[in-house]
Amino acid sequence: MPELPEVETVKRGLNRLAQGICVKDVTVTWPAIVQISDELTDFRQAMRGQTLQDVERRGKFLIFNWSDVIWVSHLRMEGKYLLPEHKEVVDKYTHVILELEDGRDLRYRDVRKFGRIKCYPKQQKEAAINALHLGPEPQEVTGEELFNAFQRTKRAIKPCLLDQHIIAGIGNIYADEILWESQIHPETLAANLSEAQCVQLAAAMATIIKRAIEKGGTTVRTYTNALGENGHYQDELKVYGREGLPCARCHNTIEKIKVAQRGTHFCPYCQRIGE
Ligand SMILES: [Zn+2]
Repeated sequence: MPELPEVETVKRGLNRLAQGICVKDVTVTWPAIVQISDELTDFRQAMRGQTLQDVERRGKFLIFNWSDVIWVSHLRMEGKYLLPEHKEVVDKYTHVILELEDGRDLRYRDVRKFGRIKCYPKQQKEAAINALHLGPEPQEVTGEELFNAFQRTKRAIKPCLLDQHIIAGIGNIYADEILWESQIHPETLAANLSEAQCVQLAAAMATIIKRAIEKGGTTVRTYTNALGENGHYQDELKVYGREGLPCARCHNTIEKIKVAQRGTHFCPYCQRIGE
């Protein structure tokens, strides 16, 4: 599942390759992927003639700014945007096709069909983004903000980092990496973290997310980013997917446990509860 750095990489790719594209016609083959707000009567009608101004990102969401409408798009597990020539064959996993004036298509491909594109009139942009109730971005949040948010929960730190309302954009891979970097055990109750630990956590988030964006995100298994490019942060992972291997800091063995139903990688020596 793409997390903030992978979605940011997609955003940058779209801004490089798709800014200014103009939509000639639209085909949707799996209607559940596209949702339109009540003010719009028809997706095809709303999209014809639209020009893409740019793409922004908030948490793991892509915000497409078209001339009169916006899209709020979530890739979920395996959603991808592609920009092939119009004449290229459309495979059975491609569910939304925008035929463009320049001879290409903007295609949305999603093997598992979990992703969503929500289309709103432009005037509703702010309301649509607010309705996502996203927490701050991990590169911007302060230790004090984290400390205050954690006082309101009885949960462990790992599920708090995955909670998009507390902090937007972190998923399973970067949560494990951030906790290792901060030397915090993933089962530590978030409310028990000191202000100093929260400051350390905020710094680790900023450093890791920035570095992962520079490396184009992480490519695990067969997931390539939405424009078919591979990221390289997997070469720098310290704990994720490294159970049984030595910790880069202390050389003890990385373990994998379940925390709040999620596979969680950590170093039992560097990351201890209550220290
Ligand atoms: Zn260690």
